[in-house]
Amino acid sequence: MSKPGPIFNHLALIGVGLIGSSIARAARAQGAVRKITASARSPATRRRVAELGLADQVLETNAAAVDGADLVIVCVPVGACGEVAREIGDRLKPGAVVSDVGSVKAAIVRDMGPHIPNGVHFVPAHPVAGTEHSGPDAGFAELFVGRWCILTPPDNADPAVIERLAAFWRLLGANVESMPAEHHDLVLAITSHLPHLIAYTIVGTADELAEVTRSEVLKFSAGGFRDFTRIAASDPTMWRDVFLANKDAVLEMLGTFNEDLSQLTRAIRRGDGAALFDHFTRTRAIRRGIVEIGQDSPAPDFGRAHPGLPAELPRPYAVSDEN
Ligand code: NAP
Repeated sequence: MSKPGPIFNHLALIGVGLIGSSIARAARAQGAVRKITASARSPATRRRVAELGLADQVLETNAAAVDGADLVIVCVPVGACGEVAREIGDRLKPGAVVSDVGSVKAAIVRDMGPHIPNGVHFVPAHPVAGTEHSGPDAGFAELFVGRWCILTPPDNADPAVIERLAAFWRLLGANVESMPAEHHDLVLAITSHLPHLIAYTIVGTADELAEVTRSEVLKFSAGGFRDFTRIAASDPTMWRDVFLANKDAVLEMLGTFNEDLSQLTRAIRRGDGAALFDHFTRTRAIRRGIVEIGQDSPAPDFGRAHPGLPAELPRPYAVSDEN
């Protein structure tokens, strides 16, 4: 089947880290746009973006990068999006579509919305895809394949514009769904923000233990701890901004989480094996459900490679055939 032609003519990316560079790579690979311009905050990142050939032009200012663009995607930490919108507002082409990739949506609408002029379409978005790595080298074209991209268009958004942006994300491999920004923030608070907070807490707690214990925590980390450390290695700036921007929804979910944790604590204290068994049976079914809908691989242990058996070692207790 032949690929559809470009969906937008000129894509401007503001911020070219993990997400921005993955969009650039995927849009190029899929012919989703004809031209890409980009800007990033630091000269080092701009240099690297040019070296990697991720954009046709790398510009020093965010305002210069959006000149003539018909799709602008802001890919910077949530807390920086309002300032970026203020910088680019006056330079946006009439009829352009402005979007973002921020992990929180109501705060983006609040901070960016006022700077988007009449005649420019604002459709915030969140590709629910990522890794614990950052920067332009960390991106890859397949990042969005089979993942969800959630659009949170305002009530008065033009349906044709929403559909065009959805088509762009579909061409990058994503499944697209629309929902109100506040609902997005509540859903992501439980599916993403709270798990990150728990991982940050557990890894921090282990680090506060006595020195000897800490080295054993690292040594025996395959018992489960290391899976938390991957999440807790996520970008500190990004996650600081997520918790500041989604404060209300995270606090609401944290309240429910604390109640559930108290229940499990009580079951352990009382030796209530049935309660623990029922709970763990329910959570195991949730994992199966995630695998069944294709949101994770069925491979055991997240598909980690297991090294081969040890080669020949001295065998002090080897038995001979005669024995
Ligand atoms: P990243 O790899 O750290 O890249 C961030 C980019 O934003 C860099 O180009 C950086 O420029 C630029 N930037 C940082 N602070 C800035 C500021 N104050 N003003 C202007 N530019 C600034 O981050 P990322 O993972 O791509 O995340 C970008 C956005 O995607 C965030 O809003 C995040 O919530 C969202 N998101 C992330 C993930 C994930 O798993 N990582 C998933 C979905 C959505 P310099 O390199 O020059 O500093």
